[in-house]
Amino acid sequence: MSSEREYICPDCGCLLIHSNPLTLESMLDVHNQLCVVKRQKSMASQLATKASTISLSGTGTNYSKAEGPIDPEFKSKRQVVGTFQGIKVWGPIDPPGQLGIWGTQVTVDYDICIADGACIEACPVNVYEWLDTPGHPGSEKKTFMAREKDCIFCMACENVCPPQCVKIFQKGT
Ligand code: SF4
Ligand code: SF4
Repeated sequence: MSSEREYICPDCGCLLIHSNPLTLESMLDVHNQLCVVKRQKSMASQLATKASTISLSGTGTNYSKAEGPIDPEFKSKRQVVGTFQGIKVWGPIDPPGQLGIWGTQVTVDYDICIADGACIEACPVNVYEWLDTPGHPGSEKKTFMAREKDCIFCMACENVCPPQCVKIFQKGT
């Protein structure tokens, strides 16, 4: 007496049933090739990988310097378009003239930053370092929050930034 075997696709939830394990395996092979949800997930993952590393060069040259302050609500209005050395970048971006907002806890609007260095001088735990951004209309270097995980949320950088392009988010905010 044969018992039925079954397989539920983790992507689309489709149920495959057959008493013969070899036949069920063949059915599974066919399903894996045809499953639309599986294919969509695979394409989304490939796109995310392609978009993961931000380039600082490109064809975006027709931009003017933006005025502060940074939009404190940007996380609900913008999308993460990739990362640069592990730091999130929130779009829109069109390098080198438009670079978006960088960071998760320590965030800087690169389109407003004028590179005067006040935040670097103020930070007691050395979160920032310079990053060259040639071709940007606001300044040709920006403060890169390379060690944002070390931030102690003292708010010094946010308070000293002349164009108010820094926004600090406590963990979980
Ligand atoms: S909030 Fe304080 S510790 Fe955090 S990056 Fe700014 S200056 Fe540095
Ligand atoms: S203080 Fe503001 S404008 Fe000055 S370098 Fe830092 S982020 Fe840029």
